[in-house]
Amino acid sequence: MDTTKIFLDLLHGAERLSAQREKEDLFRTLGSCVRDALGASSVLLYAVRPAIGGMELHLVGWCVADMDGGSWQDMSSSGHLPADPFLDDAINAKTPWYRTSVGDEDRIAVPVSSGDRVAWLIELRIAKSPSIKVLQGLVALVRTFEHLMAQWEYANLDTLTGLLNRKTFDEQFDRLLALAERNRAWSSERRKPELKQPCWLAIVDIDHFKSINDTYGHLFGDEVLILLAKCMRETFRVEDTLFRFGGEEFVVMLRHVPEDAVVAIFERFRETVETHDFPQVERVTCSIGFACVDDRLTPAELLGRADEALYYAKEHGRNRVCSFDQLVMIGELKIVPRTTAQQDADIFF
Ligand code: GH3
Ligand code: MG
Ligand code: MG
Repeated sequence: MDTTKIFLDLLHGAERLSAQREKEDLFRTLGSCVRDALGASSVLLYAVRPAIGGMELHLVGWCVADMDGGSWQDMSSSGHLPADPFLDDAINAKTPWYRTSVGDEDRIAVPVSSGDRVAWLIELRIAKSPSIKVLQGLVALVRTFEHLMAQWEYANLDTLTGLLNRKTFDEQFDRLLALAERNRAWSSERRKPELKQPCWLAIVDIDHFKSINDTYGHLFGDEVLILLAKCMRETFRVEDTLFRFGGEEFVVMLRHVPEDAVVAIFERFRETVETHDFPQVERVTCSIGFACVDDRLTPAELLGRADEALYYAKEHGRNRVCSFDQLVMIGELKIVPRTTAQQDADIFF
C-alpha cells in the first residue's frame, strides 16, 4: 500500500466532502472517496436508528467495486436489516474503528455520531489489511463527514422535534417530488413494481392544541410536540419524509403507497396518537388531511389540497382522516381550476 497516496486521496476526499451541501451528496462522496482511497472491495453506509428495545440498522447506500462500475447506489428505500453481531459490536465498542477478519477480507466499521449517540456507521470490506496510520487517516475523514452532517442537521432540522424544518420543506419539496416521480417513471413492473405506486402528502394538525397550552402550560405543550414527532417516526417508514411545518402542524410525504392502503396508514397513526399516554395531558388527538401527489401540481397547490381536506376534518368533528381526492369524488370538495394569473406566475418562476 502506498501510504502517501492514500493520505493524499483522503485529503482530497475531505476537500470534496466539504464542497457538498445535500445530505445524499455527503453520503455519496464519503462512500466513493473511502472506496477509492483505500481500494476497498465495498463500502456500505448504515443509518442507526433508535427502536423499541434497542436500535435498528438501515442501509443508506453502498458502492461495490464490480457492480454498476463501482458507483454509489442509494439504498435508502430498503427496510431495516437483520441483526449483525459485528455491526452491533462496532456501535457499542466506543472505539474509533472496529475490525474483524472474514475469510481473506477485513471488515472495518467506523461509527459516526450525532450529538451523544451513534447515528451512522460506515463499513469497508477490504482485502489488504490497512495499517493503524491509514485507519487513523480514515477516521479523520469520517470525522469531517460527522462535522458536516452536524452542520446539515443544524440547518435542516427543527430544533424541538428533530424532524425536517419548514425551510427545508420550502427549499427541497420540488426536488423531493421530482425524485419520487422519477422513481415512478423509471420503475417497471418487473423491477421494483412497488415504486409505481403514487406518493401522498398529508398535513397533520393537533386538535385544540391552544387549549393544551392554556391548560397545562407551554412546556407540556412542547412535550406533546416532541412525543407526537416520536410517534410519527415510529409509525411511518424510513423513506417517508416528515416535517414539522409550523407550531403544531406536521407534514408527511408517504412514498409509493397504493390508493387502497393509504387511509389505513394514516388511520393507524391517528389511532396511535389517540391512544398514546401523554404525560399529564392524557388525551391528545389530531386531524389529518391528505392528497395524492401529482407532478402537474405545484407544491403550493398540493399543499392547498391537503389543507382543504384537513379543514374538512376539523369542520366534521376532528380526530379524523380525510382524503382530498375522496372528498372530490363524493362531491364534498371541488377542484378549483388555476387562474391565468397563477399559471403565468408558474411560468415566471
Ligand atoms: P384546532 O383543533 O382547530 O387545530 O385548534 P388549535 O387550538 O390546535 O389551533 P390554533 O391554530 O388556534 O392554535 C395553535 C396553537 O399552537 C397556538 C399556539 O399557542 C400553539 N403553538 C404554536 N407553536 C408552538 C410551540 O412551538 N410550542 C407550543 N407549546 N405551542 C405552540
Ligand atoms: Mg391545531
Ligand atoms: Mg394549526
